[in-house]
Amino acid sequence: IQKKEYRPLTEATSITYLQKLGYFTNQVCESVEIGDGNLNLVFKVRPVDQEQGLIIKQALPYAKVVGESWPLTLKRATIESNATKIYNELIPNLVPKIFAHDEEQAVTVMEDLSHLQILRKGLIEKKSFPFFAEHIGEFLANSLFFTSDFGTTPAKKKELELTFNNPELCDITEDLVYTDPFFNSETNSFEEELLEDVQALWNDEVLQLEAAKLKLDFLSKKEALLHGDLHTGSIFASATETKVIDPEFAFVGPIGFDLGQIQANLLFQIFSRTDQKEEILDQLVTIEKVFNETFIRLWEEHSVRPFNQVELIKEKLEGYWIDAIGVIGCECIRRSIGLAHVEDIDSLELDRKIAIKKEILAFGANCIKNRFTIGNIKNLISDWSNKS
Ligand code: ADP
Ligand code: MG
Ligand code: MG
Ligand code: MG
Repeated sequence: IQKKEYRPLTEATSITYLQKLGYFTNQVCESVEIGDGNLNLVFKVRPVDQEQGLIIKQALPYAKVVGESWPLTLKRATIESNATKIYNELIPNLVPKIFAHDEEQAVTVMEDLSHLQILRKGLIEKKSFPFFAEHIGEFLANSLFFTSDFGTTPAKKKELELTFNNPELCDITEDLVYTDPFFNSETNSFEEELLEDVQALWNDEVLQLEAAKLKLDFLSKKEALLHGDLHTGSIFASATETKVIDPEFAFVGPIGFDLGQIQANLLFQIFSRTDQKEEILDQLVTIEKVFNETFIRLWEEHSVRPFNQVELIKEKLEGYWIDAIGVIGCECIRRSIGLAHVEDIDSLELDRKIAIKKEILAFGANCIKNRFTIGNIKNLISDWSNKS
């Protein structure tokens, strides 16, 4: 078969693309580009007489946010498809099905989840997601345990590192999460009312050192296959279902990174809400509890080698949460003053936004500096509730 040169799809060609694969042949279809990201095209294609269709996600060779001048590898589409396939083996109920992947075109055809809502949007609308915390705890425990040295052989672990060799996207995270927000970088973006608070962070030598240690963890700890971008915009949910999408940043890294990113993005709701905070606080604690319990159970039932001391696994779990609290701190800071913000906070009216960002910056710095004494999510929350 002759390979076709890469071409971005359009709404029209996305329909013929699917029909050539044998989907919706002889049916009148409609295609809409529904992507809200800056890096990829997402088309929903459906026969005009049905609601449910198929999703085509195609990586663009550049980041849209700065025009075509920021090239970005197309390989991330294959990384995303491969990670979602692994998740389909481990936790099929918690991810979309993958129907086709085309490496040259950087295209993945997947299950249409538009009957669900992006979790960030739902949370901003104050909707309840009663199963979300349990589901994401299970997602984290299964995806991280079975790709860690507890749940996989050295040969397969090495294979994961090779399959998910993702240096370009790891570089983006390194810059945007661990480097740029901690100095006067041009990529930062924040309100001038925050300047004093921000300069205090930039001049805080202890903070600088601890953030550098966390960056080194991100670069050097090869604990498990991470999703790599697990914020509330990478999750579809309803009152009963949870589906994790968008693992294009997947790589083998520190377990605390995925744990911390999702927790931080829930915390933004606690900071920005005036009521119903208890519900989110419960979710934070439930995620930690379900993750720990499930991870231990998986280790008891599926460990690839006979580690027989439960103390060992408990000590490891404590370490993952200490790392996670550091990641929460970095995520708090970068989502307030870095390049990529979050709607939970950005949509607030200016005075409140400034006040809340000041709180989040102080909270984040405290997480980074005192993560060892804070230790876990339960303590983090009770400390925070006592202070406020
Ligand atoms: P990006 O990597 O560009 O952020 P995402 O995978 O997060 O792309 O998808 C961007 C948007 O496209 C999502 O927020 C969602 O609205 C829509 N989308 C993505 N995947 C699906 C899907 N499987 N079903 C329905 N909508 C989807
Ligand atoms: Mg997006
Ligand atoms: Mg996304
Ligand atoms: Mg993405």
